[in-house]
Amino acid sequence: MATTRIDNATVWTGHRLPSGEIATTDAVLMKDDRIVALGRTAREADADEVVDASGEFVLAAFGDGHVHPMFGGLEQQFAPVRDMSSPQEIVASVGAWARAHPEAEWVRGEGFDHTLAPEGIFLAEWLDAEVPDRPVVLRATDYHTVWVNSEALRRVGYGVGVDQPHDGEIVIGEGGVPTGTLREWGAWRPVYNLLPPVPAQTQLDALSYASRSFATAGITWIQDAWVEPDMVGAWLAARAAGALDQQVDLALWADPNSWRDQLTGFEESRARIIAEGHGQVTGHTVKFFADGVIESGTSAMLEPFCDCPHSKGLPNWDPEEMKLAVAAIDALGFTAHMHAIGDFGVRMSLDAAEHTAKVNPPRDRRWVIVHTQLVDPADLDRFAELGVIANFEPYWSKFDSWQSELTEPRLGPERTHRQFQTATLADRGAVISFGSDWPVTTYAPLEGVQVAVTRQMTPEGPSWMPEERVSVDAALAAYTSGVAFQAGRSDAGYVRPGAVADLVWLAQDPRAVDPMTIGAIPVRGTWYRGRRTFGG
Ligand SMILES: [Zn+2]
Repeated sequence: MATTRIDNATVWTGHRLPSGEIATTDAVLMKDDRIVALGRTAREADADEVVDASGEFVLAAFGDGHVHPMFGGLEQQFAPVRDMSSPQEIVASVGAWARAHPEAEWVRGEGFDHTLAPEGIFLAEWLDAEVPDRPVVLRATDYHTVWVNSEALRRVGYGVGVDQPHDGEIVIGEGGVPTGTLREWGAWRPVYNLLPPVPAQTQLDALSYASRSFATAGITWIQDAWVEPDMVGAWLAARAAGALDQQVDLALWADPNSWRDQLTGFEESRARIIAEGHGQVTGHTVKFFADGVIESGTSAMLEPFCDCPHSKGLPNWDPEEMKLAVAAIDALGFTAHMHAIGDFGVRMSLDAAEHTAKVNPPRDRRWVIVHTQLVDPADLDRFAELGVIANFEPYWSKFDSWQSELTEPRLGPERTHRQFQTATLADRGAVISFGSDWPVTTYAPLEGVQVAVTRQMTPEGPSWMPEERVSVDAALAAYTSGVAFQAGRSDAGYVRPGAVADLVWLAQDPRAVDPMTIGAIPVRGTWYRGRRTFGG
């Protein structure tokens, strides 16, 4: 029995008082992996270890309701392409990496900025200038756009007259030649199928890197939002190696083209996760991509795009097929985690939930629509009615270059200024959870809190859709109790006796600082199941 007491703190419990304020106390006592006492009872108890919080802020540790730890971790192993300011800079970095790694049969990179080329079209010939002889495959930070060189096009067999897939776009240029830009799975999955498998040790290194990173930000629960079959073993190996400082739930990716054949595999994966995951790795969830992203013109829209009036985007699923698939995984006891960006993508996902609730027996479902970027006014109340959780990546709700360069030209002003309606959905009774979508954007929850409460890029402003800002209390709740609800964890998300001893200690009270500095508040410590995983 090991006991730890945190004294002299402002402990934000997460419990809302009748006054509307969140209850606070001044001390927490942890015994093994549980919180056992608060306030005076905690203060007066003996403890093996006492931590003086110096009057600072303690709350339930954060959860990340939508994140890609393997992709973020693996990115470190590939050619650096993130945070570069021009295609030329990316090409130079890829060339340098290729020369330094002559042994690499494929040159890979993850996370380039797809706003850097006109209309998001990146040319194979730019990469050919640096790497003409080996295939290069780079994925953009939106995870929906891929840029390849001519050798990669040659190997996958994309030339003049190539057939377009029904669920993607091979962008064609002059003379009918593929440009090198591939949009959505249907277009780039055949390229990724050619890649050599990532060695087990590299996968373990990637997950260890991700887990350590999350611990520094106060995170103790994560939803891996896109798990391919070969990643299940990697997660279980990471747990067995003691490399995980979080609990993780795996969302197994449903392929619109073969989901019926996947069902047995989902059940087998879950059985293996239950046997080997020891509760730290769970497999409750199946991931659906209802659509793509607005920036690539692949989100599914109720009305056409402004710059492309013949197109309403590209649903990844036939809506009727998605209903059947969600009902099928629900009947097996899985939870649906539904990526939806466009207003038709959101509607398809709500329709799938509604259909499932009709045809399957009632049960406690924690289904989620993730990103929730554009919701038709007619659908706003359906989240609460159907019990569908609205997950947002709050860091996105600011008017940045993704919005000004790639989104507004497609959506036009009215739809542009109706995105990420966090406050509206909360007011209408939807449960709100937050996530990062790392490595798309930062995993640090405090940076997300800052944007959720300001919707500003700079201290001077302006605030984008200020009516959709939420309070600091609401933002912290979305990262704690909101994600815990999504996860189906009744013993997490609040600081209370009996809850898991998952806590984070912040150097400042986020409610008491300039909101534009919340993202910079240092994390002093993280406890996962009573064990200090960061700080100290
Ligand atoms: Zn994602």
